Amino acid sequence: MEQKTGAPARIPNLSADDARRAILDRLTAVPGRERVAVRSALGRVLAEAVMAPCNVPAHDNSAMDGFAVRFADLASGAETALTVVGTAFAGKPFSGIVGAGQAVRIMTGAPIPEGADTIVVQEIARIAGGQVFVPAGQRAGQNLRRAGEDLALGGVALPAGKRCGPAELGLLASLGVAEVTVHRRLRVAFFSTGDELASIGKPLAPGEVYDSNRYTLFGALSRLGCELLDMGVVRDDPAALETAFREASASADVILTSGGVSVGEADFIRELVNRLGQVAFWKIDIKPGRPMAFGRVGDAWLFGLPGNPVAVLVTFYQFVQDALLTLSGVAPIPDTPLFAVVCDSAIRKQPGRREYLRGRLVRRDGRQTVELAGAQGSGILRSMSEANCFIVLPEAGGDVAPGDTVQIQLFDGLI
Ligand code: AMP
Ligand code: MG
Repeated sequence: MEQKTGAPARIPNLSADDARRAILDRLTAVPGRERVAVRSALGRVLAEAVMAPCNVPAHDNSAMDGFAVRFADLASGAETALTVVGTAFAGKPFSGIVGAGQAVRIMTGAPIPEGADTIVVQEIARIAGGQVFVPAGQRAGQNLRRAGEDLALGGVALPAGKRCGPAELGLLASLGVAEVTVHRRLRVAFFSTGDELASIGKPLAPGEVYDSNRYTLFGALSRLGCELLDMGVVRDDPAALETAFREASASADVILTSGGVSVGEADFIRELVNRLGQVAFWKIDIKPGRPMAFGRVGDAWLFGLPGNPVAVLVTFYQFVQDALLTLSGVAPIPDTPLFAVVCDSAIRKQPGRREYLRGRLVRRDGRQTVELAGAQGSGILRSMSEANCFIVLPEAGGDVAPGDTVQIQLFDGLI
C-alpha cells in the first residue's frame, strides 16, 4: 500500500497460545436468542438448558428379547419351569400381572409387566408345551432398562452453550421436546483486500490472482452456521477500505478480512482501523500465518487474517473458529485434541515458532503413520486439499526425522 506514513509501527511478537488466549479472554456470546423447531436447531447453540420434561426411558423396559420373570420364582441351583401367560410388545404392553410360577414373553423395549422384575434372554431359555425352562444362574434385575436411566425427569438434559448436532436433535426428540431457545446466528461480514485480486468467472489480467480466500472463508464460516455478508474484493485504497469497514461494522458482529496485515502493508490499515476502533496487530510465532490483527472496529470484532491462502486457513482454525463459536454462545470451548503419531517424513524446522504442516494420516499394513501432504508453501492450497490433518510441531522443537513421533490435529475434528 502506498499510503504508508511516518516510521513503521512496532508490531509485537506473540506465541500462538498467548494470541489465542488474548482473543478468547475478551469474547462472550453476542446478545439475542430465538425459539426454533428441533430440526432447525442443527448447528445452533442452546441459549438455555433443556430440562427433561419426562423420564427417558419413560418406563422400566426390557433390553432384550426374552421372558419377563419373577426372580424369587427361580431355583438357585436348577432349571425352573414357568407358565407363559402372555406376550409384551414394545408398543403393546402386557396388561395383566405376572403371578407366582408365571412368565411373559417380552420384546426389546416393551414395558416390564407388573409382578416381573428380571428378563431371561430367549437364547438361553427352552420352550416346550406352553412353558419356559429357565436355567440356573440368573441375576436379579438383569437385562432391564430403568425408567429415567438415560435422562431423569427434571434433570438437565442439555446444558446451555451446547451446539446441537445429530445426537442432540435425537435427544431432544426422545424427550418429546419440539422447540428450543438458541442464540441468534452470528453475523459475519468478510472481504478480501488486494489490488492484485480478480473475481472468478473473468480472465486474469497480467499480475492478477483469483480471489480464493473469500471462497475458503465462505466454506469455513458456512459450516459454523454464521449469517454471511460477502463484501467481495476491496482494493488497497484508503477510501474504499474505510467505506468497507464502516459498512461491515454497522451490519455485522464480526468482520473477517484477508490480506493487508503483513508488515509492509500493516501501517496503513492499522492507522485506518484504529481511527474506527481499537485493533492490535501481531506477529504470531507460527508458520504459516505470522501476521494477524484483532480488535474492535465500531461495534464489531475484527479478525484481520494474512493473505496467503494456507495462512488464512491455519489462522482461521487456530484463532478465529473458537472465537466465533464463543461469540455464538458455545461454552465451554474444549482444546482441540492432538494425537501422537509416528511421522514417515523428514521435516526441517527452526526452533522458536510453532509450525502447522499439512499432513496425511494413513493406515498401511495395519500401521498408522503421518506423512507430509505435498509442498508446504503458504500459498499452496493443493496440499491443504490433499491433507487430512495438521502436523503441529511445537515451538521448542527442531527437525523431525522419519520414525519420530509428532502431534497431529485432525481436520475432521475441526468442525
Ligand atoms: P498480503 O497478506 O496481502 O501481503 O498477501 C500475501 C499473499 O497472498 C500475496 O501473494 C497475495 O497475492 C495473496 N493473496 C492475498 N489475498 C488473496 C486472496 N484473497 N486470494 C488469493 N490470494 C491472495
Ligand atoms: Mg495484499
